[in-house]
Amino acid sequence: MNFDSLIFKLIREERQRQTRGLELIASENFVSEQVLKAMGSVLTNKYAEGLAGKRYYGGCEVVDKVEQLAIDRAKAVYNAAWVNVQPHSGAQANAAVMLGVVKPGDKILGFNLSHGGHLTHGSPVNFSGKLYVPSFYNVNRETARVDYDEAEKKAQIEKPKLIICGASAYSRDWEYARLRKIADSIGALLLADISHPAGLIARGLLSDPLPHCHIVTTTTHKTLRGPRGGMIMMGKDFPNPWKLTTPKGEIKMMSAVLDGAVFPGTQGGPLEHMIAAKAVSFGEAMEESFLKYSTQVVRNARTMAKSFMDKGYTISSGGTDNHCMLIDLRNKNLTGKKAEDALIKADITVNKNMVPFDDKSPFVTSGIRLGTAAVTTRGLKETDMLKIVELIDTALMNTENETRIAEVKKEINKWMKKYPLFQLHS
Ligand code: PLP
Repeated sequence: MNFDSLIFKLIREERQRQTRGLELIASENFVSEQVLKAMGSVLTNKYAEGLAGKRYYGGCEVVDKVEQLAIDRAKAVYNAAWVNVQPHSGAQANAAVMLGVVKPGDKILGFNLSHGGHLTHGSPVNFSGKLYVPSFYNVNRETARVDYDEAEKKAQIEKPKLIICGASAYSRDWEYARLRKIADSIGALLLADISHPAGLIARGLLSDPLPHCHIVTTTTHKTLRGPRGGMIMMGKDFPNPWKLTTPKGEIKMMSAVLDGAVFPGTQGGPLEHMIAAKAVSFGEAMEESFLKYSTQVVRNARTMAKSFMDKGYTISSGGTDNHCMLIDLRNKNLTGKKAEDALIKADITVNKNMVPFDDKSPFVTSGIRLGTAAVTTRGLKETDMLKIVELIDTALMNTENETRIAEVKKEINKWMKKYPLFQLHS
């Protein structure tokens, strides 16, 4: 093949970067060879606006089967009554849900971004904070765990139409039943965005939101280890509360409202190659090996968090229930930015992150966020986590010492050679 040399050279460089370093960004993972193959398939050529069996384009017989398989597998993984696998991303899934269930100017209540929430849960710089009127609940100052009493008070005062739970940087499980009670007390809908822990929830390692939350959104590429993408689910379908009707005058089910909010509401043609890759990853998520993997993700995260604490690091909320942790670096006299920069030089990829009640800007921050999903895919176990913590500690205690950082990098590059990635893809 006549490759576009510039781009394929860069792809090779990125592959080398991923292979030689330690990937600790909590929202990243390494997909399987078959997920990669499905993404790079001829399905990208097909337009398929609409839903399986009800398309606006001809020639959809094959992609109909692909999409239906993705839906059926997602339903089986999450015991869901309804799923839409078309959202291009997690943000798109949340945009579609909001278009479907709230009107511009309506109030929404989400988890504070600077305490671990996500941009799409009401941040003023995002559509969710521009079109709707957001308020936020926080973590408790003492425990750094979600303050459900505050969430209840805010809900009673603000009377939002939609309550959102789920986070990007929060290491604890969620009390979905409690939030549902709060939502019911004010007639609000409850949305859980499980983008981060989706894979752990799939295998029962964390509480299940589907029996409690009206709607659940997720990305497919974090702990679930699928391609980049989004998905919307419901544990139970129900008639829409606003009595919207079909052209025949029947009350629309919520599933129909949400399908319409994805297409034509917020998207055009679905990415069938990505949907095929989602289907592959859902199939993988049902395998015994994925349970083993997810269990190891949690074990690794707990071991890593404890090992950091043993070295005098502050882990927000004192530990983790899932794949991630937030390190507050203030007692180490380091900012998140300085730590991230030093670690990147050592080929350890993490991201700087605000910690609850942070006194620094989002560009500097007082913390870093780490996750174990990717290194666990790579095959690392508990004893390796202890080594990772040693290496990170060495880099952070020597941020000005280029020689020491270079030594850490060399050791990591040598170590990672023993854990090859993407054997079938060049
Ligand atoms: N929701 C949560 C909780 C997330 O953590 C993220 C991504 O980090 C998203 C939504 C957005 O997903 P995407 O980047 O696929 O749009």
